[in-house]
Amino acid sequence: MRIVVLTGGIGGARFLTGVRAYAREAGAEVTAVVNVGDDVIMHGLKICPDLDSVMYTLGGGADPERGWGRAGETWTVKEELAAYGAEPTWFGLGDRDVATHLVRTTMLNAGYPLSAVTEALCARWQPGIRLLPATDDRLETHVVVSDPDAPESRRAIHFQEWWVRHRGTLPSHRFVFVGAEAAKPAAGVRDALAAADVVLLAPSNPVVSIAPILAVPGLRDALTGNRASVVGVSPIIGGAPVRGMADRCLAVLGVPCTAAGVGGLYGARSADGLLDGWLVDTADAGTEVPGVTVRAVPLWMTDEAATATMVRSAVELALESRGS
Ligand code: GDP
Ligand code: CA
Repeated sequence: MRIVVLTGGIGGARFLTGVRAYAREAGAEVTAVVNVGDDVIMHGLKICPDLDSVMYTLGGGADPERGWGRAGETWTVKEELAAYGAEPTWFGLGDRDVATHLVRTTMLNAGYPLSAVTEALCARWQPGIRLLPATDDRLETHVVVSDPDAPESRRAIHFQEWWVRHRGTLPSHRFVFVGAEAAKPAAGVRDALAAADVVLLAPSNPVVSIAPILAVPGLRDALTGNRASVVGVSPIIGGAPVRGMADRCLAVLGVPCTAAGVGGLYGARSADGLLDGWLVDTADAGTEVPGVTVRAVPLWMTDEAATATMVRSAVELALESRGS
């Protein structure tokens, strides 16, 4: 069996540990298609937060407490940059992490596509599944915001600035995936989707992790045009994001922060949406999404075993929904 997972960073990485455990048992092959909308160049370095979260987590190098970045991290480079007054100072740039960004930036400058760079970085981390960026082209999530003191003002800022610097609190109007229309799926993405038996949407942020992936036109077409059924896993339990700020993002779209709201945002495949199946938490049993088979199972990713059990339910739902 071949499984493709569309995923963001921290929530997606946790989910992927369960997918990997399930796949080892079931003899399945896994490809993760990872969001690049958070990617940003800072101090001349290309930083790919979601690819790195997934790579470090699966490779056993992530900081479990912070949720992002490297375990055993130190911050000398960040302090030295601040001593120069080099902006931005609000971005967490760890010393160990910098090495990843240096290798990545050097390879990109030498002309390698991001997919090839990611494969090279993974030679060290051995994540046990194939990691592909959604696209090798530039695609950045920006947020159109107002100045709190000047409600009529409008400017677009990079998602990282909105999220990390302003904690998503600025008056916000919409998200823009800069470059998306011209972006093509990264090398290998189309083939992976064509060969997939099951496609899973990780319980990642639907607005800023999954939507930027789907904004790559050829990728969305490959996904909706294939024979594999698509099952999403709700990132919202009992009306709240388990962690993170998905509620802030959904509010910008006017989508209720509920399992039904996110399921409706993805929509039924039969109605030009994506989903054949939608997995919600037992707290949200009874959730209805028109045209989609909804099933309720525990969705708390407390440890790898619990997450693998949840993945099994998602795969079973996908295999049952196929052709229905
Ligand atoms: P990011 O790119 O680092 O923001 O991470 P993702 O977008 O991949 O995942 C963030 C989302 O994961 C959050 O919006 C949460 O709703 C969701 N999440 C985190 N932990 C859990 C969990 O234990 N269960 C479920 N169902 N969702 C979770
Ligand atoms: Ca992210």
